[in-house]
Amino acid sequence: MIRRADGYYCQFCISIEVKENVEPTSKAIGLDVGLKYFYADSNGHTEANPRFYRQGEKKLNKLNRRKSKKFKKGQKQSNNYHKARNRYARVNLRISRQREEHAKRLARTVCTSNDCIVYEDLQVKNLVRNSKLSKSISDAGWTQFRRWVEYFGWKMGKITIAVPPQYTSQDCPSCGKRVKKFLSTRTHVCECGYTKDRDIAASINILKKGLCTAGHVGRDSFVRNPEVLWRD
Ligand SMILES: [Zn+2]
Repeated sequence: MIRRADGYYCQFCISIEVKENVEPTSKAIGLDVGLKYFYADSNGHTEANPRFYRQGEKKLNKLNRRKSKKFKKGQKQSNNYHKARNRYARVNLRISRQREEHAKRLARTVCTSNDCIVYEDLQVKNLVRNSKLSKSISDAGWTQFRRWVEYFGWKMGKITIAVPPQYTSQDCPSCGKRVKKFLSTRTHVCECGYTKDRDIAASINILKKGLCTAGHVGRDSFVRNPEVLWRD
């Protein structure tokens, strides 16, 4: 039995292998999660950040202030305090469920329409601690998203790869040259002539990284010494 702000829930653990039979799509995708978008992908699509958390936050702050006003130090708390506390908890619960649903829906779509999904192995906990960025980052619910991508990937038999995030937003997807940028630089412009939205460029790098680092399972051992392939 689990207690939540809006009631008690029974939790069941069902251990059936619930694999889904999904047709291969012949598609691979790289995802760059960011501040400006929920994610940008290697096909050039950007998925907008969900705004409901930010909207909900205003409401939560209001309810939190109301709750604090009713709090009496060192006394038995009034009925009104308990009411305010419960109201706050219920709204908080509703918002976290919205976030979870959003992450789950997106992850399912991504896994249905691709065979290989590559994303960054981000330590969101560290990022959230980082100053001003924190709200947008925790807000976007990347961790939940990633968890659902990995779940649906397993369920549908898709490849999911988390790659190290180093330099994904700096390197040129076309020629490989490192092009240093500030966080505020929105466009990747390389001297090779390649120009792209910064986050789209990053997602292409992420896809490429994934394809280089994984997917070579069971290869013939001589491919490790490629020069033998070229021997006459
Ligand atoms: Zn270039």
